[in-house]
Amino acid sequence: MSGTHAGNPVAARVRRLEERLVESGHVTDEELDSILTRVLDGASPLNGARIVAHAWSDAGFRERLLADANRALPEVGLSMAGGLQEQRLKVVANTPERHNVLVCTLCSCYPVALLGPSPSWYKSEAYRSRVVREPRAVLAEFGLDVPAEREITVWDSSAESRYMVLPRRPEGTEELSEEQLAELVTREGLIGTAAV
Ligand code: FE
Repeated sequence: MSGTHAGNPVAARVRRLEERLVESGHVTDEELDSILTRVLDGASPLNGARIVAHAWSDAGFRERLLADANRALPEVGLSMAGGLQEQRLKVVANTPERHNVLVCTLCSCYPVALLGPSPSWYKSEAYRSRVVREPRAVLAEFGLDVPAEREITVWDSSAESRYMVLPRRPEGTEELSEEQLAELVTREGLIGTAAV
C-alpha cells in the first residue's frame, strides 16, 4: 500500500492503522497487500449477476444456492473464502409475495469479496437507519414501488453473515441466454433497491 491520501481522511486513517499493525509486528505490508488482493481481485457485481442468471436458468442450482450458498458457489467458480476466514452467505429470493432488501444497521457489512465495494449510499447513516423503519418509503425513493400486498423483509448483515438478493426473472426473457440474462442484473438488484 502506498501513495498519499490527502483529502481522504478515511484512507489516511486506514493507512495509519496499517502502519501501526506493521510496526507492532502483527502483520507485514506484504501480507496486507496479499490479503487485499485476494479479497478484491475479481470482486464485482458481475459475479452476483452471473450467480443470478445461473439460478434463473437451472432450477437445481437455484435450490442448492438458497439452501446453502457457500456450498453452491463453487458450481459457478466462485466462493466467499477470499478474506481471512470464509463468511456465511445467505441468498434470499424475491417472490410475488415477498421482496428482500439488505442493510447493515451497525456499519456497512456487505459481501465485498464477491460483489466488490458497496455503493456509498449503502454506508450512509440515512439509508442504514431508515430502511429498517420504513423500507417501502425508502425503496420508493430508489424508484422501486413495492405493491402494498407484497411483504418486505429487511436483512441486517453482520460480521458473520452476509446476504445477497436473488431478484425475480423478468417476464419475456425466456429466449435469452445465461450471458444475456446476466446483463440484466444490476448491483442494486442484488441489494434489493431495484427489481433486477
Ligand atoms: Fe457492518
